[in-house]
Amino acid sequence: MEINIQKRVLEANETEADKNRKFFKDKNVFVVNMMSSPGSGKTETLCKTLVKLMPDIRVGVIVGDICTTNDADRLEVTGAKVTQINTDQFGGDCHLAANLIIDSAKQLGCDDLDLLIVENIGNLVCPAEFDIGEDARAVVLSVTEGEDKPLKYPLMFRVADVAILNKIDLLPYLDFDAKLVVDNMKQVHPHLPVFEISAKTEEGFEPWLEWLKIKVFEKTGR
Ligand code: MG
Ligand code: ZN
Repeated sequence: MEINIQKRVLEANETEADKNRKFFKDKNVFVVNMMSSPGSGKTETLCKTLVKLMPDIRVGVIVGDICTTNDADRLEVTGAKVTQINTDQFGGDCHLAANLIIDSAKQLGCDDLDLLIVENIGNLVCPAEFDIGEDARAVVLSVTEGEDKPLKYPLMFRVADVAILNKIDLLPYLDFDAKLVVDNMKQVHPHLPVFEISAKTEEGFEPWLEWLKIKVFEKTGR
């Protein structure tokens, strides 16, 4: 019974995701769904990414959180167009479903955007199950989280198109094996591109930015 309900929820979501995909195709905007556990540094990674991409690439952001507009406020400082979804008013869902995206995307007005980034709610579990009509999925993991996370949350790393290992500036102070976590990611998803960065010191950003720019160009021709 429970499995059937879950299946129907995901099927309904897929229909909405297809509508989003069509909308994003019409608007010729490349959409990235950015996911992670809470506290991995998604927002800081995004802030630095936006500053480095703009104005060459015109970026908008939809931020998902259960409560607060803290992340949207931080992102707005970069000059990007930002809108916040709080799921609190819809029952406090711990993921963004496809039907929540379209109104925010319309509100942002995707006509003058090349790239739309959706900062999903911090959670390594169900965001991986909900297609939002995105072109690419990015997962952020930080070195303070433990090397076995890709093995514990394999779906997230399986559906990801790219992974970011953040906070590498902390490696000298931790017993964290960066090679092991990358090996674990590749065990789950063999050809997953992994970029090791520090959003704080801005180390390692170039390959990640290059990857993003190529993807935006491949879809939009810009
Ligand atoms: Mg955040
Ligand atoms: Zn959820």
